[in-house]
Amino acid sequence: MGLLTGKRALIMGLANDNSIAWGISKAFHAEGAELCFTYVNEAIEKRVRPLAASLGCDFVIPCNVDSDADIDQMAASIKERWGTFDILIHAIGYAKKEELNGEYLNVTREGFQIAMNTSVYSLTAVVKATRSLLNSGGSVLTLTYHGSQQVAQNYNVMGVAKAALEASVRYLASDLGPSNIRVNAISAGPIRTLAASGIAGFKDLLKSFAGVAPLRRNVTQDDVGNTALFLCSHLASATTGEIIYVDAGFRTVSITIDS
Ligand code: NAD
Repeated sequence: MGLLTGKRALIMGLANDNSIAWGISKAFHAEGAELCFTYVNEAIEKRVRPLAASLGCDFVIPCNVDSDADIDQMAASIKERWGTFDILIHAIGYAKKEELNGEYLNVTREGFQIAMNTSVYSLTAVVKATRSLLNSGGSVLTLTYHGSQQVAQNYNVMGVAKAALEASVRYLASDLGPSNIRVNAISAGPIRTLAASGIAGFKDLLKSFAGVAPLRRNVTQDDVGNTALFLCSHLASATTGEIIYVDAGFRTVSITIDS
């Protein structure tokens, strides 16, 4: 019997086999979870369907989280097919590429609103729409980055958005706790994905990160997937409102001296 046998998990944010959501999906599938995937548009759908099929899943539905109508339709589809479910993975983030370069203070009002809407409000909107379908003992998990706590060059408006996302996790955990539903975030180290490719200098960041992190390596989608498995299983039954780091220890280190 797997850690998630009999559990149903909604995975939002799979784009391709480099996605963090893919590491999570594989870990969940290996431990017996039944999965549902969402996609934002047709181009992403073409990549998501075969990946879902490779895990024996044909429950693949559209949802652009910028649209309340899409979110409501997604919730209706889940209600129709599953009735209720246990795990919600929110692995979605977006900011315009031009906002992820240079000085933060050049952020535009529009760029700020887009980042906050798609990367932050979407978590609350999706939780609100699916709350009545989430079983007691269930779990909500989102993805964040340490640029929320300390300045990470070029991360800019996404750092501000991730700070708001982490605060949302604490408020949602407080709202859902009395229903025995936990809400947490994983703060992942940098991983080469479609979303990350929009951040200026990302390749160089990956190189310096591995040199500084105590484990002397970058983190992988599988590292994140395994921690997600722990957080969404009964093993983490009293952990909620937390930001759990999967960063090879990077944030624990201050200045390093070349030797
Ligand atoms: P990814 O590009 O594989 O996934 C991002 C997903 O967001 C894509 O599937 C994309 O379709 C989806 N998305 C964007 N706008 C959307 C919208 N309006 N509606 C619905 N879906 C939308 O990249 P990833 O790195 O796996 O990103 C997943 C999460 O992990 C993001 O929140 C990201 O900020 C976070 N994260 C990434 C890293 C990293 O270094 N890659 C580190 C820490 C946290």
